Amino acid sequence: MSESAATSSTQRYDVILIGAGIMSTTLGAILKELQPEWNIALFEKLDGAGKESSDPWNNAGTGHTAYCELNYTPRGSDGSISTAKASGIAEQFHVSRQLWAHWVDDGVLGSPRTFINALPHISFVWGQKNAQYLRDRYEAMRAEPLFAHIEHSEDLTEIGQWAPLLAQGRDPQQQVAASRFQDGTDVDFGAITRQLAGHLDAEGVDFRYQHEVTGLSRGSDGRWEVKVKDTSTGQKVTASARFVFTGAGGGALGLLQSSGIEEIKGIGGFPVSGQFLRCTNPQTAAEHHAKVYGLASVGAPPMSVPHLDTRFVEGRRSLMFGPYAGFSTNFLKSGSYLDLPLSVRPHNLLPMMQVGLDNTSLVTYLMKEVTKSQKKKIAALQDFYPQASGSEWELITAGQRVQVMKKDAKGRGVLQFGTELVSSADGTIAGLLGASPGASTAPSIMFRLLERCFPAQMDAWRPKLEAMVPSYGRLLNEDPALLDEVAATTAKSLQLDS
Ligand SMILES: Cc1cc2nc3c(=O)[nH]c(=O)nc-3n(C[C@H](O)[C@H](O)[C@H](O)COP(=O)(O)OP(=O)(O)OC[C@H]3O[C@@H](n4cnc5c(N)ncnc54)[C@H](O)[C@@H]3O)c2cc1C
Repeated sequence: MSESAATSSTQRYDVILIGAGIMSTTLGAILKELQPEWNIALFEKLDGAGKESSDPWNNAGTGHTAYCELNYTPRGSDGSISTAKASGIAEQFHVSRQLWAHWVDDGVLGSPRTFINALPHISFVWGQKNAQYLRDRYEAMRAEPLFAHIEHSEDLTEIGQWAPLLAQGRDPQQQVAASRFQDGTDVDFGAITRQLAGHLDAEGVDFRYQHEVTGLSRGSDGRWEVKVKDTSTGQKVTASARFVFTGAGGGALGLLQSSGIEEIKGIGGFPVSGQFLRCTNPQTAAEHHAKVYGLASVGAPPMSVPHLDTRFVEGRRSLMFGPYAGFSTNFLKSGSYLDLPLSVRPHNLLPMMQVGLDNTSLVTYLMKEVTKSQKKKIAALQDFYPQASGSEWELITAGQRVQVMKKDAKGRGVLQFGTELVSSADGTIAGLLGASPGASTAPSIMFRLLERCFPAQMDAWRPKLEAMVPSYGRLLNEDPALLDEVAATTAKSLQLDS
């Protein structure tokens, strides 16, 4: 039953979404379709949607399909290449493609070219050991239906046809190898977020920008009470809901801690900042048409794998290289240096200290990255694009990622690089921590949230879920005919086939 918004001092809702990033707006749009009469509010502390990590210049815009990201296909201790993580990520991206295609067909999202563009995904390495790894990865991947269309080359001339900037000026004696998928994508997650925000606003969601959530508590009636500050007037209001989603990006950890739920105990956040180099010469940008991922340096976190990317933002083609990781104690780009110290609690202090002790190579790496000169940054770019000229590149600051630190099975604090969906046992509150594979998999993460927090509704919702995502609940890697069908129909709706 739907809640009425009008009350005395406390605004009552069925659902409160905190933060207007891709996660909350995706969940809001799914819920509006499943349960149109539910009364939903969204509180965002900034003056618009998609201005933190989901903004196109705060992330790399890779539609993570595990096509080119080498950290998803590690070599195991027995020497074999594992494709398990890669296929899990590719499955999730196919879910995203289906939901976005459905929303394009229904007019929820606008022209696909405003948020998704076809772009080859290439992995590129140099040196004998790395070339052998890439060859073995190619053999392992082509055995999987999801990756059967992989191409591979160790010929510099052919690689130069795939991506000319990689080959121009390169020593012909250097051993190189590349694998390519032609059906990769570049995604403007900020555009998706803003278009979904516009849709939710039109559908009657109570959208409040410049409203910062300052705390959460459980009312005596079991509802969540959310304290909100209007940052433009300083006025404080309270709102309540039966279900709350803290889609606050780097702000989610503090909000979940303030809720006092058991499930957040022992969890800490490790912030990693980032910078990209952006090419200022449109002619150079026009010479490259791919996302080219390499291998991470020793000690580097997996999300700091360097890549040379074509980007499409607001109808303009650009070229970007990075990210260069760094360290800042902020949990949000618009956050405060106090975010990290204020997140320390008696229950997460020990796991956080253990992470610090066990990850000295990561800390050393981040410190080196923070102090890396512009000259060294350009030298890293020249490993990919030998003829890069430093004068054509500007440094931009990317979004903050807050990696999860939590106890492992043995009770010792470990650093995780994935995404962690935290929810209370009764399913009345949930939040998202971590940032990888991130925005690309927002639809799958939100479907998982529904299954966890709304089990009683799932049977009734299933027909609508299957209309949104025809492969819902099935694995495409196990059903090549369905994979072909889904790939073809989504390519058509998302205009990726022309
Ligand atoms: C450098 C970098 C590169 C990345 N590259 C990729 C990539 O190539 N592909 C990919 O799929 N993903 C990538 N990601 C990850 C991706 O950007 C994130 O997973 C995704 O954008 C997170 O979305 P979100 O909605 O959870 O958070 P956000 O987009 O950060 O949104 C959170 C919102 O909550 C608001 N908020 C915070 N606290 C409060 C509060 N107390 N009250 C009200 N509002 C609040 C914030 O202002 C913000 O608008 C990258 C991230 C980074 C940092």
